[in-house]
Amino acid sequence: MMARTLIKNGTVVSPTGRHEVDVLIEGETILALLERGKSDSLNITADKVIDATGKFVVPGGIDVHTHMELPFGGTNASDTFETGTTAAAWGGVTTIVDFAVQRYGENVQESLATWHKKAAGNCSIDYAFHQIIGGIDEQALADMDYLVKNEGITSFKLFMAYPGVFYSDDGQILRAMQQASNNGSTIMMHAENGIAIDVLVQQHIARGETDPKYHSYSRPSLLEGEATNRAIVLSKVAGNVPLYIVHMSASEALNALSEARHEGLNVFGETCPQYLYMTLEDHLAQPGFEGAKYVCSPPIRSKHDKHNHHADLWKGLRMNELAVVSTDHCPFCMKDQKELGIGNFSKIPNGMGSVEHRMELIYQGVVQGEITLERWVETCSTSPARMFGMYPQKGIIAPGSDADILVWDPNGKTKIGVNDKHHMNMDHSSWEGFKVDGKVDTVLSRGKVVVEKDKFTGTKGHGKYIKRGLCQYLN
Ligand SMILES: [Zn+2]
Repeated sequence: MMARTLIKNGTVVSPTGRHEVDVLIEGETILALLERGKSDSLNITADKVIDATGKFVVPGGIDVHTHMELPFGGTNASDTFETGTTAAAWGGVTTIVDFAVQRYGENVQESLATWHKKAAGNCSIDYAFHQIIGGIDEQALADMDYLVKNEGITSFKLFMAYPGVFYSDDGQILRAMQQASNNGSTIMMHAENGIAIDVLVQQHIARGETDPKYHSYSRPSLLEGEATNRAIVLSKVAGNVPLYIVHMSASEALNALSEARHEGLNVFGETCPQYLYMTLEDHLAQPGFEGAKYVCSPPIRSKHDKHNHHADLWKGLRMNELAVVSTDHCPFCMKDQKELGIGNFSKIPNGMGSVEHRMELIYQGVVQGEITLERWVETCSTSPARMFGMYPQKGIIAPGSDADILVWDPNGKTKIGVNDKHHMNMDHSSWEGFKVDGKVDTVLSRGKVVVEKDKFTGTKGHGKYIKRGLCQYLN
């Protein structure tokens, strides 16, 4: 008989409410939800009982935007699939969706095989892939169909930024969108006007403005708003193809998204913790080279902008204008990595490490009254699963679903920092000093306890590749 685990006396939370039920797990899946007391009266036995008294029992976090081992700016993101998924588990995350990368001149299917090789046998939690298409040509377009049909990859990321690296022009974007419109997949977009940004970057450098903070000045929020709007218009021309704008940081972009959604278009948005909590003044503009820790794209915004980006993004999450919180986890150490940009901010590898802390940081938004407990579960687990075709296998605590579960202690405390909670492979924490009124208590990945009593009990290789279906939000 398969091993049984019973999670007793907790409050199970879903996007639609809270229920005082016990969760019975058999093997890798959830067998039943039992009314309180029923496990005793029915004489249910279990090999392991987890007492969740006073705790929330929620579906494991799903981070649909990570970049483990990504080659970028002459170096590689510092988390491997092993260290990154282990840190994710420490943070209550049970599934990541990483990005396989095709660059101009490369073959899509070969690039995907490379990513499978990096991840296979190394992950401690489940993983799936999106495919980045950095070079749209006839072959790449045909490969999109192949990936949807055969590889369980149903989302393709394009870039309006990074000319010469990942950039696609409007014509290429339109062609990929038409292809997606035919095969049912979703286009994910990095929406910043990279051509205009490159001009501003060169002008700052020429003036000797080389500190990390100029990274933000060279990428104004207006250019994120413009690109977001342009992507939406192109998606409309391509026949209302599902469009998912990644890592939104700016009110201007959110306004374009909201308008499109009110029009009934299949347009969705994601934001990340750094855009909800960090500012140009307090982080990117720290003295010396410290600000390099917070260089990511789109950049951290100023608190003196015309718009209050933080407040607007939280509102967007409340209103379901933004559907998902991910991290864009793309960590780099200061030593030998971020340091490549001393004296020239444009050479700083773009990215921050957050995969471990998203559930914690967004829960703090619940404590602060920005979103409800239910909305925390929805934006960090259920919607990511539905958006990328993994529901109800993932993203919900229900009979038949994978037993991916986070037991969250609202009375615990978490202090983030290199000498506090920090398991990512980085020589600093992007979130040093942040405090959270709550704590990861126990984490299960397909029935296996991977974090318990402040110990990692998972194993490398337990994580399986998840083939995904199409977006489950389509009109
Ligand atoms: Zn990214």
